Amino acid sequence: MALDDHIERVIFTRQQISERVSELGSQITRDCKATPTVVVGVATGAILFFADLVRNIPLSITVEMIRVASYGSGTVSNGQPTISSDLRTDVQGCHVVLVEDIIDTGSTMSCLIDYMKTKGASSVSVCTLLDKPARRKVHFNPFGENGKYYCGFECPDEFVVGYGMDYAEVYRNLPYVGVLKPEIYK
Ligand code: 5GP
Repeated sequence: MALDDHIERVIFTRQQISERVSELGSQITRDCKATPTVVVGVATGAILFFADLVRNIPLSITVEMIRVASYGSGTVSNGQPTISSDLRTDVQGCHVVLVEDIIDTGSTMSCLIDYMKTKGASSVSVCTLLDKPARRKVHFNPFGENGKYYCGFECPDEFVVGYGMDYAEVYRNLPYVGVLKPEIYK
């Protein structure tokens, strides 16, 4: 069965995502007055979004990744994010833009903002492709004078895959965001 055949419904098409990512890139570019700026992608889910987003920020920025583990192979977070692969750049005194695929309970983003503060970032912005506000348990705020919140789309309260997001480490390479057919879940 082709990967597309596992999808019950497309929620955000490739075209919609591409247009929105370009808008987000323009917004960040306009707002990015603080230097130096480090744009940090949260692996693995944000990889496609991050790669497309930074191509829409034509500024002198440092591009970095951090890896956070909080999900097992299923669809429910264990609620305790841990940094499993750290930054290689010193963000002391820098404006940090955290780039995430999706914000659900908020615990990953809250943990990352606190972490960037402890590393001495002067401000922290958050840019997420998707946000599920209905599921928020941990509230967070961007940090510092230049800290801003950017969101691509509000997402319905459903488990989504594609455009970097997985189920059991599959479906990240789909160019759109969708919901799996129920029979796919084991
Ligand atoms: P939070 O800490 O906000 O609860 O969860 C954030 C992380 O959970 C995201 O970076 C993402 O990896 C994962 N996540 C949350 N909702 C979904 C979803 O609907 N689909 C997938 N594939 N991952 C999700």
